Amino acid sequence: MEKDILNNSIDRSWIDQLTKPLVISGPCSAESEQQILETARKLNNSYIQVFRAGIWKPRTKPNNFEGIGKEGLKWLNKVKKNTGLMVSTEVANSEHVKLALSFDIDILWIGARTTASPFTIQEIADALVERNDQIILVKNPIHPDIELWIGALERLFVKGIRKLGVIHRGFYTYNNPKYRNQPNWNLLLNFRDILPNIPVICDPSHICGNKEGILDIAKKAYHYFQYDGLMIESHCNPDSAWSDAQQQITPEYLLEMLKKLINVDKIHKNKKSLNSLRILIDELDENIITLLSERMNISKKLGSLKKLSDISVLQPNRWKNIMNKYLTLGKNLGVSEVLLEGVFKLLHQESIKIQNEIGNK
Ligand code: PEP
Ligand code: MN
Repeated sequence: MEKDILNNSIDRSWIDQLTKPLVISGPCSAESEQQILETARKLNNSYIQVFRAGIWKPRTKPNNFEGIGKEGLKWLNKVKKNTGLMVSTEVANSEHVKLALSFDIDILWIGARTTASPFTIQEIADALVERNDQIILVKNPIHPDIELWIGALERLFVKGIRKLGVIHRGFYTYNNPKYRNQPNWNLLLNFRDILPNIPVICDPSHICGNKEGILDIAKKAYHYFQYDGLMIESHCNPDSAWSDAQQQITPEYLLEMLKKLINVDKIHKNKKSLNSLRILIDELDENIITLLSERMNISKKLGSLKKLSDISVLQPNRWKNIMNKYLTLGKNLGVSEVLLEGVFKLLHQESIKIQNEIGNK
């Protein structure tokens, strides 16, 4: 499908008529009527427009709490009636769609694991065909695949769904010490170049996996990248939450955070774009540091093995071969020879030093 057709047909009116940023908050999972009503009551203020709660929870491992199910939809419906907040939940198959719609849920979102599964997305899109006025938010797939993400939007689009939006919840990366799901801001900028019309909501909770990083990610999304909204998990008693306890915050703390975020002075326009480019650079640099650490750990293993096998640490031929290979690769990618040689000489020296230290032990 032509990306322009999709982009030009997206109906943003649903979000444009709400206060900016659109804030969606509520617990990771619905646990009890009391928990839902208490959390919603505390979230019912002018900063928050939509209440969220997971009713069906896709868990990585079996034998964990997999959601309260249909019962929870009644509680969400009660929140809607009691507070006037819009309500939202995650759907992961056609049965979920039918049930959620029968309880008047305002916004359905599709989770990261589901977005990665075309058959399931198709099933959900088919179930929505007669309710295509529904607002649907699609979370990014777990892995950084822009086309798969857009493909999910296209499957909904061909069923007539126009009130679309996406949720940026980060991408799983192996061995990332800082994030539960790395933001990959640059990917999001590229995604938005393709679909500039699509409402984008950031989910700092699932990016961070902790409470401490949420405000920083929310700031980046809202101030520097001009996202339309935020989805942040909150719970009336976060420490005893049945899922994602480590990243949920109290409604009171959320409110404090939103005040800090929204009421700050307007950032100077030029500084804004400068800072957003710096955010991209910082994320890449942090990735480079993680890779360096992983590389040095392998050097240590190599050092022990060479010692055991009585092989000398420095292997001039291998060094020459890999350097030539890297220079060609760098040239193809537009990396100067000076930079590439400089970086790899340093890396090689450090690696030799580490291996010698092990050899001399
Ligand atoms: C959630 O929102 O609680 C959730 C399961 O998120 P994700 O699909 O991003 O993992
Ligand atoms: Mn969660």
